[in-house]
Amino acid sequence: MESIRCAHCQQFIIPNPRIKNQRYCSHAACQRARKTLWQKQKLKADSDYKTNQKDCQKQWRENHPDYWRNWRAKHPKYTERNRLQQQERYRQRAFKIANMDASKTYTSIKSGCYFIIPEAFGSGIIANMDASIQKVRLILDG
Ligand SMILES: [Zn+2]
Repeated sequence: MESIRCAHCQQFIIPNPRIKNQRYCSHAACQRARKTLWQKQKLKADSDYKTNQKDCQKQWRENHPDYWRNWRAKHPKYTERNRLQQQERYRQRAFKIANMDASKTYTSIKSGCYFIIPEAFGSGIIANMDASIQKVRLILDG
């Protein structure tokens, strides 16, 4: 069997036939070096992949600047339904909160992430939403 040189400690070793493309001996330090290198390469590959994906999406948007505008124009029913559903969700949420005991509502509000509902949907009521839109720190006076 042909011997190989460990990529870390440079010692000649007989490679383990069960390991494909072995480049390191079995010393703990050499195995550590192998792992570290592997992690480095993986992190780099991952970040390259992410960057590449971002670039692709950006590129696509740049090449199709009117895509969503066109899509909405071609699907007015869908767009309108979406808008109405969104409004209905706002309305129901505001209604629920408005029906709660006012003092309870007030004291149960905690600092956190809130979505501020526009005036039209519930006269300035602050409602907790799934999406964290605004971070609100509540300061109660009195
Ligand atoms: Zn070694």
